[in-house]
Amino acid sequence: MRWCSQCVLPDTRPNLVIGEDGVCNACKSHGTKREIDWAARERQFRDVADRARTTNSGHDCVIPVSGGKDSTWQVVKCLEYGLTPLCVTWRPPGRTAIGQRNLDNLIRLGVDHIDYAISPKTEAAFTLRAFEKFGSTAVPMHTAIFSIPLTIAHRFGIPLVIWGENSAFEYGSADEAHTGFKLDAEWLKHYGVTHGTTAEDWLDEGFTRKQLASYFGPSAADMGEDEIRAVFLGYYFEWDAEETRKVAAEHGFEADTGGARTGYWDFADIDDDFISIHHWMKWYKFGFTRLFDNLSIDIRNGRISRDDAIAIIQKIGEDRPDSDIDKLATFLGIDRSRFLEIAETFRNTEVWQRRPDGAWAMPNFLIEDWTWT
Ligand SMILES: [Zn+2]
Repeated sequence: MRWCSQCVLPDTRPNLVIGEDGVCNACKSHGTKREIDWAARERQFRDVADRARTTNSGHDCVIPVSGGKDSTWQVVKCLEYGLTPLCVTWRPPGRTAIGQRNLDNLIRLGVDHIDYAISPKTEAAFTLRAFEKFGSTAVPMHTAIFSIPLTIAHRFGIPLVIWGENSAFEYGSADEAHTGFKLDAEWLKHYGVTHGTTAEDWLDEGFTRKQLASYFGPSAADMGEDEIRAVFLGYYFEWDAEETRKVAAEHGFEADTGGARTGYWDFADIDDDFISIHHWMKWYKFGFTRLFDNLSIDIRNGRISRDDAIAIIQKIGEDRPDSDIDKLATFLGIDRSRFLEIAETFRNTEVWQRRPDGAWAMPNFLIEDWTWT
């Protein structure tokens, strides 16, 4: 386990590679942003928008939205460029009150919207199975988030889908091919947070095709025939969490007044009670938490020094999202101890070692005098 010398992420993070110079690919990729000709990229987006507007009689594009700061930013940008979007949300079973308010605010900006809910019975069973199999509670969520907007685009005959940031670019990618404008099946396989699975793969896990109907997107052949293009807005406009937060706030988006729900930011991961658990499993698997992700972005953008970030991590600690764990366990129909038992089976022993006193510890942790519990 090695740690980037510029940010606070380890090379155990999927797709993060630390070079011989000690710097990770996400930090290097961030450095290239300065060299990008953003004016040329903006012109490219204008062409994309013009084409969508002139070839359509109905909606020009689908925007997958959660109601978060990024989706508010996506909607603001698309309206600025004269697009008529149809916004689509996969409704999280753990949607928060603030998440609902932000989504209502986004719709009031002047867009048509579909709030797509999947049967909670199916969702709970699928989530539990994914948690047992991969230690990931977010496989159903990501499968739904990526499939439903494409299904809507296909069914409504809308040829353009506009995503927000390209996580392969922002968080590091071992392959240049995935850091561009296009979201396709290859990208999904690597960065879709579904452990490389599609709905098809879960038919072997006791689910029927009918139960999982909402998780299936259109086929590659359908996508090709419709000529649906899926692009990242973060390719055309410089994506930065603080910048998108600012634009969103100017358009009515609320941050959480109670402080960060998970990680370091009070304006991210606030629309769903269960997302914290997806992030928190990184502690077992890779030896870091959402805090490290958030702070690394702030370091790269010059908003905080690496030393100050480390001091914050030390102060906040591992920060287990206990109340969210209780809520998710109730949703899954299991108790808290069963939940923690499953989580424990995903502790990565290449990162963690048990000490003589019984506590688990990471020998190569970022912070030497960490209190292990
Ligand atoms: Zn780095």
